[in-house]
Amino acid sequence: MQLAGKRAIVTGSNSGIGLGIAWELARAGAEVVINSLTDSAEDHALAAQIRDETGVTVRYIAADMSKSSDCRALVEQAGGCDILVNNAGIQHVAKIEEFPGEKWDAIIAINLSSAFHTTAAALPAMYAKGWGRVINIASAHGLTASPYKSAYVAAKHGVVGLTKVTALEAAGKGVTCNAICPGYVLTPIVEKQIPDQMKTHNMDRDTVIKQVMLSRQPSGEFATVEQMGGTAVFLCSDAAAQITGTTISVDGGWTAL
Ligand code: NAD
Repeated sequence: MQLAGKRAIVTGSNSGIGLGIAWELARAGAEVVINSLTDSAEDHALAAQIRDETGVTVRYIAADMSKSSDCRALVEQAGGCDILVNNAGIQHVAKIEEFPGEKWDAIIAINLSSAFHTTAAALPAMYAKGWGRVINIASAHGLTASPYKSAYVAAKHGVVGLTKVTALEAAGKGVTCNAICPGYVLTPIVEKQIPDQMKTHNMDRDTVIKQVMLSRQPSGEFATVEQMGGTAVFLCSDAAAQITGTTISVDGGWTAL
């Protein structure tokens, strides 16, 4: 198995893209630590399900990615990692002048600062082994902007900047750092928006998806969590050993426009 003997931590991985990446890393043979802040029976059951279906060791570790101490404790409790996927993220949409200060702080903490803290905690062991992969889940919004998403766009541009600095500091040590920039991915959080959008625009499901949600995604199709997982597995491969400090867009052409 390609990633046998490697341990991966995926932050924010009890749903959506993080969960998809955890599945693909496990299928590629990596030991996986999944994370969220909820610590529910379902979270532990998810870990057991991935373990049962793939045969690799999978653990769930609760940690609140809005807290620097929890971010560092996650890496410590996992026993370090060879592959770190910084994926946890939240969103809030409002005009700048109406954007709640506490939402700004939470988005910057969870979507940006957590990646700094986990990376800081994970790098020493990666350097000692001479092998490591840091994969930051940014967004098309790490490269372009949309109105009403000030905190999210600022955080995701920050993630792209952190990716470049991490790559430069890690260069020559067997450790790479890259950002995956998804366009619209059909995750539970996106799926939940569809009925509201259908009502607001008085459109059927397909029309809302094509004309409203995917209006900036030229392919007219959502990206999938499996595609995010496959991209992460590729970034862990030997073929990607010299890919570092860059962004990989998986966005159906959004950022080519
Ligand atoms: P999601 O809501 O399904 O997943 C978010 C994950 O983060 C969940 O597992 C949640 O438990 C976790 N999380 C939230 N707050 C946390 C906290 N304080 N501590 C620990 N975990 C926490 O959404 P998703 O669409 O899968 O998003 C995952 C990542 O992908 C995010 O960084 C998001 O910005 C990015 N992204 C998503 C899309 C998309 O279209 N879905 C597009 C571009 C980028």
